[in-house]
Amino acid sequence: MITRMSSLFLRTLREDPADAEVPSHRLLVRAGYVRRVAPGGYSWLPLGLRVLRRIENVVRDEMNAIGAQEIQFPALLPKEPYEATGRWTEYGDALFRLKDRKGADYLLGPTHEELFALTVKGEYNSYKDYPVVLYQIQTKYRDEARPRAGILRGREFVMKDSYSFDLDDEGLSKSYELHRQAYTKLFDRLGIEYVVVKATSGAMGGSASEEFLAVAETGEDTYVRSTESGYAANVEAVTTPAPEAKPIEGLPEAKVHHTPDTPTIESLVAFLNNADLGRTFTAADTLKNVLVKTRQPGAKEWELLAIGLPGDREVDTKRLEASLEPAEFELLEEADFAKNPFLVKGYIGPKALKDNGVRYLLDPRVVDGTAWVTGADERDHHVVDLVAGRDFTGDGTIEAAEVREGDASPDGKGTLVAARGIEIGHIFQLGRKYADAFELDALGPDSKPIRITMGSYGVGVSRLVGVLAEQNHDDLGIVWPREVSPFDVHVVIAGKDETVAAGAEKLAAELDAAGIEVVLDDRKATPGVKFADAELVGVPTILVVGRGLANGVVEVKDRRTGDREEIAVDAVVEHLVKLVRS
Ligand code: ATP
Ligand code: MG
Repeated sequence: MITRMSSLFLRTLREDPADAEVPSHRLLVRAGYVRRVAPGGYSWLPLGLRVLRRIENVVRDEMNAIGAQEIQFPALLPKEPYEATGRWTEYGDALFRLKDRKGADYLLGPTHEELFALTVKGEYNSYKDYPVVLYQIQTKYRDEARPRAGILRGREFVMKDSYSFDLDDEGLSKSYELHRQAYTKLFDRLGIEYVVVKATSGAMGGSASEEFLAVAETGEDTYVRSTESGYAANVEAVTTPAPEAKPIEGLPEAKVHHTPDTPTIESLVAFLNNADLGRTFTAADTLKNVLVKTRQPGAKEWELLAIGLPGDREVDTKRLEASLEPAEFELLEEADFAKNPFLVKGYIGPKALKDNGVRYLLDPRVVDGTAWVTGADERDHHVVDLVAGRDFTGDGTIEAAEVREGDASPDGKGTLVAARGIEIGHIFQLGRKYADAFELDALGPDSKPIRITMGSYGVGVSRLVGVLAEQNHDDLGIVWPREVSPFDVHVVIAGKDETVAAGAEKLAAELDAAGIEVVLDDRKATPGVKFADAELVGVPTILVVGRGLANGVVEVKDRRTGDREEIAVDAVVEHLVKLVRS
């Protein structure tokens, strides 16, 4: 069927939407693909829906190719399964909760591990039934703290989520690897530029986990990669290589110094270097103790937590958050200091923490045998040569310090450089967390139960529409890759002449008959308006039927390169069919 611009439900906008922060958002609204309904809630207009469906189909295709079977759950779900796994509370404010008329609790599904596990438990019971991979392409709901950039971070969005069920770890590894390959294929087909990074698994629990990040300056995810190896990781997942512990024997005694007016690292370092201590100090020689309070999900009480890290590094709150998850944390307020007078602001040291039972976690660089300058728990006093493993110990280590460009790569090869991306897919090995919660077992050959192990795998289908526009646009508009463009060819009638219109209609009909998706600009508008809209909408190939028709030629324009080519009318259908199929 030919789509006619004269009747297409489309109004392009001349002005950028006021709330647009990134190009994809601006262009998708201006070109009439989506319209905002609420924060993080967008409606899909005909053009947008076409792109979304095409992406869905590529995803579906690659999922079916690895033998995954499509099913569909409701988005409106009862609370009980999520209570059984603890996620009713763990999900916190991101979960949309509601009550039905009888007062029963419901939620709008943010992701469906529970339901898939329960469904498999309901249908299967023998080891012969396994393995199985199920998926759905469905609307998800998350009350995101910061819905952003249009459809890139919605509160209602379309996700492909799949779940694998295996009898053993080896099976799980295989299912994981199959998904990894399927994702690689599908993102390649969509023409996306992306990297695969090591990730933390967040509220899902589990072990092996990787994220697919589309490379984009406007992305919210910062990742790092090695200058010398294939290592790439989300900043949250970077593990700090710990130096070797050093011998403690022979190290100088710890000594408290009067260091007036040195509540900051800079003031302290300056003071020490003027104090005639026989050596120079840098911020990296100081140990700063940052205090936060944490709270386990569902708990009422906050608990103090101290983090000891080299003074030349800040705490990265996202890394800290990932390390503490599912517990939440907050910075200390004046009232907290008032309540705990042993915390001497600017001069907090390991001793007072220990004496007062505060949990104390150390940066992995603070290994035994390293000597530090740190607070002496008394105003205007610091202790020099406080040695880890001799004068203090922590209750464990924590990844909370910022990762910096130039840091050594965790795999020992090269150093790290930073880049930004948008998460488009996430694969992880869940293990038995959900199977345990629901006692999902298969009866083995010896009639003994085998606990099933699961994987879960997501693709941000609606987000991909935004990502593709983000990676494929210029000043004039969007430039869709062929695989997802709402149409194959955009035919512009450029002229008022009846014969021009008739010629364009004929070509459009022939293209349509050849299986090419055509949009025909048959509006009574100037060629200038039509060209501007064609550029904005972004179909990769534009066929201009105009004055040249009298001489037997039409013009084919490549939206991406801007190249124009005159082609004989008789040959143009064949030419375009070849181009579209290539
Ligand atoms: P993010 O870190 O971006 O919040 P996530 O880790 O919460 O994502 P997953 O739970 O792994 O996301 O969901 C699978 C996929 O769903 C993500 O890789 C992403 O592409 C997509 N997705 C997640 N949240 C949103 C959202 N609010 N809007 C659109 N797509 C989303
Ligand atoms: Mg994720």
